[in-house]
Amino acid sequence: MNIYPRVEINLDKVRNNTKLLVNKCIDNGIEVMGVTKIFCGHPQVVEAMIDGGINYIADSRVANLCKINTTIPKVLLRLPMKSEALKIVKNVDISLNSELDTIMTLDDIARSLNKVHCIILMVELGDLREGVLPENIVETVNYILNLKNIKLIGLGVNLTCYGGVIPSRSNLNQLVQCAEVIEEKFNIKLEIISGGNSSSLFLLEEENIPSRINNLRLGEAISLGRESAFGEHVEGTSNDACILKAEIIELKEKPSIPRGEIGMDAFGNKPIFEDRGVRKRAILAIGRQDVDPDGLRCLDRNAFVLGASSDHLIMDLHECKTKYKVGDTLEFYVDYSALLKIMTSEYVYKKFM
Ligand SMILES: *Cc1c(COP(=O)(O)O)cnc(C)c1O
Repeated sequence: MNIYPRVEINLDKVRNNTKLLVNKCIDNGIEVMGVTKIFCGHPQVVEAMIDGGINYIADSRVANLCKINTTIPKVLLRLPMKSEALKIVKNVDISLNSELDTIMTLDDIARSLNKVHCIILMVELGDLREGVLPENIVETVNYILNLKNIKLIGLGVNLTCYGGVIPSRSNLNQLVQCAEVIEEKFNIKLEIISGGNSSSLFLLEEENIPSRINNLRLGEAISLGRESAFGEHVEGTSNDACILKAEIIELKEKPSIPRGEIGMDAFGNKPIFEDRGVRKRAILAIGRQDVDPDGLRCLDRNAFVLGASSDHLIMDLHECKTKYKVGDTLEFYVDYSALLKIMTSEYVYKKFM
């Protein structure tokens, strides 16, 4: 069936990307948490990642994890809401945490269910998203170790998400140091030292990852074959596991500058135009409700995205060798922010191949 717009997700490519990354990590003594949030925890992608050899399945939303049926451990990446503590303890094996208050709630609930809930404590090392400050780690751990139904299994860090801070041997060594201080002081062994997301991959190539880091949480590198510190392609992976297809609904020669006084566009911005004369332009039936237009790159290298409103994508096809007509489709590579919206939009058909 020809339903557009649609995203085609090539499960073989997802599986192969996963395999390649898992092998790279294994060679460095690192286990992989496969991150499914960009795919909204879709079961077929989960299966492909598990076939690819991931050791844990991880997602930022409990609702996605609840859908996933697997024997490997399920990890909640986003700090738990206290309001969903019951759902978490019931459905998730490990959660990442930074708030004692929440951890105590998880403990209470785990006790009432006669369970032990595992946590990884997040350490703030500069990116300023989640995490306990290093100077408060010992005190926090001291408290956690008194909770009977919580098991502290490791420490983790998240970088290059809010502050854009790039992982380094130095900031990851700080994480290792935190772990070693705790192990010594409390005479425990931390199983997992989780050194970040797809932005930590380049350190593997450089052999600059501290040896005690034994876990990475990978989403973007698996789905798009991209590491996220510099946006580089990860050698050997496919960058076209996810391709967007959208249909042309108008195709006309039009001037490249609007006529009339320019006020605001549909999103309150004052647009600026360059006069390139009369050009062949297309409108595709997809818009900002479904995709981030800045994150699209057409497979036809001579076709360019000019802009988008809520439901319309405007393209310049003037230089294209192919003679497109109304009803034809164009294909696009997508970046992370484009794919995020595509997967979340109920108006984009998801085709798994
Ligand atoms: C999303 C997320 C990841 C995965 O990040 P990628 O850049 O997609 O690899 C890892 N850890 C946490 C805490 C996350 O929220």
